[in-house]
Amino acid sequence: QARKRFGQNFLHDPGVIERIVRSINPKPDDTMVEIGPGLGALTEELLAVNPRLQVVELDRDLIPVLRTKFFNYPELRIHEADALKFDFSQLASERALRIVGNLPYNISTPLIFHLLEQSGVVEDMHFMLQKEVVQRLAATAGDNNYGRLGIMAQYFCKVQPLFEVGPGAFKPAPKVDSAIVRLVPHKVLLHPARDLSTLQRVVRTAFNARRKTLRKSLGSLISVDALRSLGINDNLRPENLTLADYVTIADYLVDHPPETYSGNEADHD
Ligand code: SAM
Repeated sequence: QARKRFGQNFLHDPGVIERIVRSINPKPDDTMVEIGPGLGALTEELLAVNPRLQVVELDRDLIPVLRTKFFNYPELRIHEADALKFDFSQLASERALRIVGNLPYNISTPLIFHLLEQSGVVEDMHFMLQKEVVQRLAATAGDNNYGRLGIMAQYFCKVQPLFEVGPGAFKPAPKVDSAIVRLVPHKVLLHPARDLSTLQRVVRTAFNARRKTLRKSLGSLISVDALRSLGINDNLRPENLTLADYVTIADYLVDHPPETYSGNEADHD
């Protein structure tokens, strides 16, 4: 019985599973970790190539199911844990981590933010996500889906949407379309910010008022004169600025911290 609160939609289409595994292209000596193995549909194919796979699963009722199913893979390590709180960097050996998973869609955005913070120890990530989330990850300035998720993902990673998967590939079938995405952390950041938390604050503040002009949406952080001195038109909207623009603003704020910061930055995606 699949559990809704754990976002459980199990893959059962062998053709789709094979296509995902081919995209991942696992190698015997990878340090690979799968998030949310579920009943092990993907796990089985990954183990066939790399018996030292590690998995992180929150649903404790699935742990004995996995142990029984994969009893002949003694090197499989099963972590019963919440991936949102899991320290993935502890799993990295001398090899960077390859992270994969058909993610629980109800937590995919916070989980991706959590993983981006650890991208220094990551070689690549392959995820099944709701199609709209993949569109947001890959969106660039001006796109409808452009926002905090895409900007921060592209700060850390190259984002490659791979292919779409219909609801029929899962049991139970989800109500949404899905897609596979590959995230490859940049070895050298393309637009390094002087202070990451300042960049995060600027992007969050901007998109909390995404329909307003920058003059309004960033008004609590930076003056119109300062925006203009950076060559940024204050009549634009948050969706018009590139990652490089956001880094420019954040770097300026490191030397010119806002005096009357309103602190009004509740999380929105
Ligand atoms: N990989 C399996 C498949 O493709 O058939 C299952 C995918 S299902 C969409 C998501 C899986 O993530 C479930 O097994 C669920 O129990 C697990 N899960 C949900 N929340 C989790 C969390 N916070 N940390 C780790 N695993 C979680």
